[in-house]
Amino acid sequence: MCELYCKQDTLALRGKHIGPSCKVFFAADPIKIMRAQGQYMFDEKGERYLDCINNVAHEVVKAATKQMELLNTNSRFLHDNIVEYAKRLTATLPQPLSVCYFTNSGSEANDLALRLARQFRGHQDVITLDHAYHGHLSSLIEISPYKFRKGKDVKKEFVHVAPSPDTYRGKYREDHEDAATAYADEVKKIIEDAHRSGRKIAAFIAESMQSCGGQIIPPAGYFQKVAEHVHNAGGVFIADEVQVGFGRVGKHFWSFQMYGEDFIPDIVTMGKPMGNGHPLSCVVTTKEIAEAFSSSGMEYFNTYGGNPVSCAVGLAVLDVIENENLQGNAVRVGNYLTELLDEQKAKHPLIGDIRGVGLFIGIDLVKDHEKRTPATAEAQHIIYKMKEKGVLLSADGPHRNVLKIKPPMCFTEEDAKFMVDHLDGILTALEEVMGTKN
Ligand code: PLP
Repeated sequence: MCELYCKQDTLALRGKHIGPSCKVFFAADPIKIMRAQGQYMFDEKGERYLDCINNVAHEVVKAATKQMELLNTNSRFLHDNIVEYAKRLTATLPQPLSVCYFTNSGSEANDLALRLARQFRGHQDVITLDHAYHGHLSSLIEISPYKFRKGKDVKKEFVHVAPSPDTYRGKYREDHEDAATAYADEVKKIIEDAHRSGRKIAAFIAESMQSCGGQIIPPAGYFQKVAEHVHNAGGVFIADEVQVGFGRVGKHFWSFQMYGEDFIPDIVTMGKPMGNGHPLSCVVTTKEIAEAFSSSGMEYFNTYGGNPVSCAVGLAVLDVIENENLQGNAVRVGNYLTELLDEQKAKHPLIGDIRGVGLFIGIDLVKDHEKRTPATAEAQHIIYKMKEKGVLLSADGPHRNVLKIKPPMCFTEEDAKFMVDHLDGILTALEEVMGTKN
């Protein structure tokens, strides 16, 4: 009996027999994707879906095929592609971030980041943000409240959960006189409490915009203040750019750069969009942290991280982003999309908040504006109806009520209009049934 597990969005998983000896676990109503082109995916009936979930466009084939025909090998050997790719990647980052470790998934990158951080000064504890997700490995489930609260896993004593710096639904909101300091002081308090019980902080880890956490954008100055507290405690700042990095926010290549030049993390992890579907990820850190790791006798090796084909793909992705000015596109289309969504917000009581930068936008759905009660079932209904219209969306956040728009970076203004027109129609029909129409 063969069983295959595959996830699709937030729908309940079911097992389905697809042959005498084969069972596949997938969502109740999955889409079987046969091919993809640019921002579109096509199912087995040839139906076209506008993809508002994935990263860059679906084709960087030539570079991979060419390199595969020439050479692929494991990571023991030096080759030109890895040197060229490491140079190109580090050129996108501020100094002193200059040492690359190539890995194969965002989870592997974050796991290695934790090892580097813990080895640096021999501290063990990690501060993570509430509702965060940093990957599927055991070491990361431990620091991902998004996951460990759902299962039987419990919070470990070396993990500290700081409040998510959410100024819409969190403890300190947009009307607070200094939410950045208030949220950063929560981190400071965690560090002080940990010290009192003899624990030492190895790292603070966060995404520059919390994606699974519900598209949370921290108030300006928050990260600088947190970095100061963490450094004072001898820890390092890990920026998880696996989902939010690589030009999606438009003006900046890395989303942590949105917070100003005076904020530089000690370790940056990256993944998803780097390989355009090909397994490729990386950890970039400072010489000081890397040297502390190797001089302690620790070794890092994985068989295929940074192999010639992965690096050829990575280089081709960087070329596409540059040559097609996809960051410029993210700014232009992102601004247009935000304008359209702001109009929808004025029209539809179900929309509580629109948050985002470039082509990474969250629509926070609420049952009422005053209490900001999350509209979870409504979000699921909208995703389902949008799928019927040929638009693929997902919902995130602790209440699964934040529609997440994170399309391929070649998304156009027409795509944005198409998506918002359907959203408008579905919201109107839903609000009529709910009796909440403006
Ligand atoms: N970090 C963040 C912020 C993510 O969203 C994810 C995946 O969703 C990961 C890490 C893990 O990446 P991967 O699924 O490639 O292991």
